Amino acid sequence: MSEARTAVGVDIGGTKTAVGLVREDGTVLARAETRTPAAAGADAVLATARELAAQLIADADEKVHAVGVGAAGVIDPQQRLVLSATDTLPGWAGTQIGERLEDALALPVAVDNDVRAHAVGEARCGAGRGRGSALVIAAGTGVGGALVLDGRPLIGATGIAGHFGHIPSVEAEGLPCTCGRSGHLEMIASGPAVLAAYLRAQGTSAIPAGDLDTRDVFALAQHGDAVARAVIATAGRALGRAVGGLVNALDPEIVIIAGGLSHTSDLWWEPLRAGFRQEAIDLVSGCPLTRAELGADAAIVGAAMLAFDTLSTRPHPASTGIRS
Ligand SMILES: [Zn+2]
Repeated sequence: MSEARTAVGVDIGGTKTAVGLVREDGTVLARAETRTPAAAGADAVLATARELAAQLIADADEKVHAVGVGAAGVIDPQQRLVLSATDTLPGWAGTQIGERLEDALALPVAVDNDVRAHAVGEARCGAGRGRGSALVIAAGTGVGGALVLDGRPLIGATGIAGHFGHIPSVEAEGLPCTCGRSGHLEMIASGPAVLAAYLRAQGTSAIPAGDLDTRDVFALAQHGDAVARAVIATAGRALGRAVGGLVNALDPEIVIIAGGLSHTSDLWWEPLRAGFRQEAIDLVSGCPLTRAELGADAAIVGAAMLAFDTLSTRPHPASTGIRS
């Protein structure tokens, strides 16, 4: 029987950095997390990730074979660097995550973005286990995800594949999007979009800004607030219709819904399923639509899976002394 290998998965987000020691079957043996020192700049963010990972490696009973990183921002997994990032991580763009962590930890390092790492975790070790393909959609602060084929996420020619929040949505018609266009799915189907729609419907002057969050809108809906129910239903239906269109185009074996909104209620899930049924053509209408299973561990598990993959393609840094 072959030795079970372990890898460290690292999840670098705008607010939190998490690491986990993960077996090849997806079992998480140990984990740790801390706040991401986002305002202190890229060096501090990377140092925090490196220290957490180094501690986990030092404490591990088993030999660690590789490190995988899922990081916020647009990532080039080939060059293992940050192509661009939002203001939540100032100075993050251009950071050579792979090269710098590999130097510091003396282990092979794989890098991708956090959303795709999350999707790989779910597809390989969570709700998509045993499936050849999975479409993973995360709906929370934003709307994104990945198409995972044979365990590998689709990256795209420019590295941004999976930005499902920026596909056109009838329900979002006329709403300006953060990308500079308008009418994109994220503007009606994300968590902040649910709150914004509720505030729009109530009239902006009725509720002082900052008095409500998305969770409050769901609580109001649960207590029968008709406006809250309507905006949640619209958000769910918009996402479901988009998913139906994507399934028509991509024909995955399963659709996995992740992110904060996936933990809400039938008030969101029912319109989501109805929207999917509305758009999915007969041939693909049986595609299972299921909730993600791994929760907060998904990104570290997925990052670790990408690390195992890199063992077969990238030489061990300690044995070659590579540095380019
Ligand atoms: Zn957009």
